[in-house]
Amino acid sequence: MALERTLSIIKPDAVAKNVIGQIYTRFENAGLKIVAAKFVQLTQAEAEGFYAVHKERPFFKDLVKFMISGPVMIQALEGENAVLKNRELMGATNPKDAAPGTIRADFAESIDANAVHGSDSLENAAIEIKYFFG
Ligand code: UDP
Repeated sequence: MALERTLSIIKPDAVAKNVIGQIYTRFENAGLKIVAAKFVQLTQAEAEGFYAVHKERPFFKDLVKFMISGPVMIQALEGENAVLKNRELMGATNPKDAAPGTIRADFAESIDANAVHGSDSLENAAIEIKYFFG
């Protein structure tokens, strides 16, 4: 087992639903420690830069618009196998496909307003943590 860090974002829909605390409790109960955090309103440039890998995808414009529609809570999580553990807590991208008890199954409305972001690999985690926390 490896001690890892991953980047998590509680997206505007979940912030608006007032479930930051409930999501943090899930991280903590899974043994993931919050080692950095900030509550921010992303600018369009920041959201576009963060999702640059998706810029050719048809949903890119709407995704950026959604991510700047309200404040987000951004955190770095640390723990054993943190990248995969966080992805398991999140559930599938589309909440309709997300396993019962996952964050997206419980708090997300749709594939675009899907409550949370989590790095999908250790390599991307390092890039994403640097992007928001330097
Ligand atoms: N997304 C979307 N429509 C789609 C696919 C993705 O709006 O058809 C958004 C959604 O918010 C998702 C994000 O783009 O979380 C990044 O997509 P990815 O496939 O990387 O999913 P994730 O890693 O977030 O599960």
